[in-house]
Amino acid sequence: MKIALDLDNTIINYANSFVSACSLEGIELPNNICSKQEIKNFIRNHDHYEWPMDWIKVQGRVYGEAILDAAVASEVLDIAEKFDVTIVSHKSEMSLCGRYNLREQAQVFLQSRGLGEVETIFLDTLEEKIKYLSENSFDIIVDDLEAVLDGVKSNAILLHYEGEDSNYLKVSNWEEVLLIFNEITDSKIEKLATHLIKYSKNHKKFILKGFRETSRLERELYSLKYDFNPRYVEAIGKKFLIFKYEENLSPIYFDIEFKNRFIEIYKVLQEDMENISFNATDSALERLDYKKNIDRRMNYLDNSISKELETLYGKILSKEKGDRKIEDVRTNICFPDFYRENFYERDGSLLLMDFESFGRDDLSRTFLNAIHHFGHDINNREESVLIDLFTDLSIGDASFWKRVKLNFDLVAFEWLLIAYRREENLSKVRSLANIMSSNIEKNEEVVSWKKDIWWIIDDRLKS
Ligand SMILES: [Mg+2]
Repeated sequence: MKIALDLDNTIINYANSFVSACSLEGIELPNNICSKQEIKNFIRNHDHYEWPMDWIKVQGRVYGEAILDAAVASEVLDIAEKFDVTIVSHKSEMSLCGRYNLREQAQVFLQSRGLGEVETIFLDTLEEKIKYLSENSFDIIVDDLEAVLDGVKSNAILLHYEGEDSNYLKVSNWEEVLLIFNEITDSKIEKLATHLIKYSKNHKKFILKGFRETSRLERELYSLKYDFNPRYVEAIGKKFLIFKYEENLSPIYFDIEFKNRFIEIYKVLQEDMENISFNATDSALERLDYKKNIDRRMNYLDNSISKELETLYGKILSKEKGDRKIEDVRTNICFPDFYRENFYERDGSLLLMDFESFGRDDLSRTFLNAIHHFGHDINNREESVLIDLFTDLSIGDASFWKRVKLNFDLVAFEWLLIAYRREENLSKVRSLANIMSSNIEKNEEVVSWKKDIWWIIDDRLKS
């Protein structure tokens, strides 16, 4: 297993160095200030110090002599001993203030922490680093910078060190990294998706799945009690689960058989409802909640398509008219991530393979997401089976289809926001955004690219 580890702020934790660097520069910090960001703000806002000169000097010291006060977790040493590790860093040769040879300082530091023997590659720019990582067949890359992970073109498993909200498998500390390496080591590893690693151990195949939040992992653990979730599971740390790789699974179609079997599954879940105390992810019981979810996702808009999506959302909102609140929303079991690849068939049984987002919520979200989900294409026959299925599931829930109709365009738009963050979805997102814009220009009642379904529902409600 060939592993690339980033140096600054991944292997090296500079928290202590910033405090020592300030004292070397004669900058007096108040007691409550110690992190890099706090120190930076303090220098910028303090009349007594010169911005940005003093900050540049502090940084020079941090990566210069104060690097010796930095910390390295003991697990990094274990990893360097056990695995084939290369340290890959884009560190410029000289510090901005011109006083330090940063690479030499880093080498001295690595030596002092027992990492002197590890192969260390320095590259001048981020682009060169990305090229190096892409071309040297690493199995795993650990870096704290999302821009690096975004750039890598290879099948390597990408671990985002201390990554807050990113699309990558996120690791919070070196203890977690070591747990993962120990689990998947010495086997052929394969990246199935960003959060899924397939590997084998003692001739058995497993999947390691990473979760953004512990609550998602807890939903999966809860679901183990159900027969239709066949998986063997073990948790490692608070954000990773190991599943036995299931063989002999057949993909499903949304047909009558699926419908009947899913109704059976849903009955079991409803009978268990008093024990299901948790909500589905991003729970949305009213229209306002859908908008909140969209606003939150809008905060991350950061690429070429951002402007188009912002304009489109403005237009969707300007179409709103009248009071659009529905009072009698019934809480039920909801699967926000209802799509083909979360279901399989084996020996005549329907299996459900993903519980990380399920919980109490408005069931109509399940239908709306199933229709707009980017993970599958569904044909007309399947669409009509899904309408029949949710008609059966929502018996007694008088405003179910009204809620579906009301929130139809918001969910369609939210899917563009979910999907655009993966590069491979960009052109599809762009073309669906164009369809939605053109529906608005044509003054259509419904903006979503799935508007035909809206009209089928509308017809059914009238009959
Ligand atoms: Mg770094």
